[in-house]
Amino acid sequence: MSDKPQTLVEHLQAFIDDTLTRCTRCGKCYEACPMTKYGEGLQNADAKHVVSGVIDWLQQKPGNAQSVSWLKVCTQSAKCIDACPKGINAMKMVRVAQMSAMGSLGVPAEQAALSGRDAKDFFRVINAFSQTQMTSQQVQKWQR
Ligand code: SF4
Repeated sequence: MSDKPQTLVEHLQAFIDDTLTRCTRCGKCYEACPMTKYGEGLQNADAKHVVSGVIDWLQQKPGNAQSVSWLKVCTQSAKCIDACPKGINAMKMVRVAQMSAMGSLGVPAEQAALSGRDAKDFFRVINAFSQTQMTSQQVQKWQR
């Protein structure tokens, strides 16, 4: 195994690949979220449908409107992490999906869902990456 530190892009791609492989789209992370009652169009939303939209964002495809609503109301409660039966860091999954919905991972700008007034949340997203288990060397490399 190489000792070479991962770039941020490599780190994100490895996380995405792992999540796409292991996530069953069960929706338990969504069901555990305390913020869903505040999201536009999330009342009585189907958890599997919302998560499927998040997974679309991870695949750099525009996700459904309800997935965007969930991405907008996340406050990093982390309740979703313990709820996942597959041990996926669902909060990080949401963070990466937010980046995609911002157009930061390859989704064309015209298809990105979080822009304008939502852009102020971008820095919260960056902040979350300080908790992604990257080594200090990896973080330094990314910050160059
Ligand atoms: S709880 Fe885990 S396996 Fe289920 S949808 Fe969420 S991330 Fe995927």
